[in-house]
Amino acid sequence: MKLDKPGQSALLKLSEVDINIERIKNEISKAVNSAELSAKSAELSEYSGEVIAARTAFENLNMESRKADDNLHMVEERIARDLERLNATSSPKDATAIQSEIESLTLRKEELEEVELEILERLEVARVELEAVSQKREATSKKIEELREKIQVEVDALKNEGRKLVADREILVSKIPTEVLEKYKALAAKQIAVGKVESRSCSACRMGLTANTIDALADLPEDEVGNCPECLAMIVR
Ligand SMILES: [Zn+2]
Repeated sequence: MKLDKPGQSALLKLSEVDINIERIKNEISKAVNSAELSAKSAELSEYSGEVIAARTAFENLNMESRKADDNLHMVEERIARDLERLNATSSPKDATAIQSEIESLTLRKEELEEVELEILERLEVARVELEAVSQKREATSKKIEELREKIQVEVDALKNEGRKLVADREILVSKIPTEVLEKYKALAAKQIAVGKVESRSCSACRMGLTANTIDALADLPEDEVGNCPECLAMIVR
């Protein structure tokens, strides 16, 4: 296949540019599908679940605590009322009955105070737990934000690099005749399409070439493109 020297050099560069464009596409896809980001996102949804559970537990205890408080106040009010009645009564029989009620109410009050104390202790544990898990969630959320920003910067840089390569590609393509370009495209769809003889090897497939092949390639006219017998890549000078 005939191709002048500037065309050959454009063809080799085109192959390099296309390989780089492919690499950039892969790097963008790898950056966007970051394994670290998926792991952190999974962690975030786990912590979010834990925060909901911890908040529900805390709110339930809060309700229990209010209920216990109400019960205690009710008993305290009844004791206060009984004490008023005790002061007001002149009947010894009533006084004894009231006295006995006050005694049992006082016992009840002590029980309720213990219950309330126990709930308050559990409430404090639940509060600490909620705070801890909320902090973990917050830290993970912040980490995700940072990762997203980092990925965005990476992707932007890759896209910039890609845009430059696409512009270079246009210029190179304009220097190569259509029939050579068609052959290049067909080869490039499957493999590295263009190579040179480098250290007695084909730079496309890295296979060593025999002395006969190297001589045959060297003997070709300057404007003739050869082929690697191993990978069929077009061999330019
Ligand atoms: Zn080869």
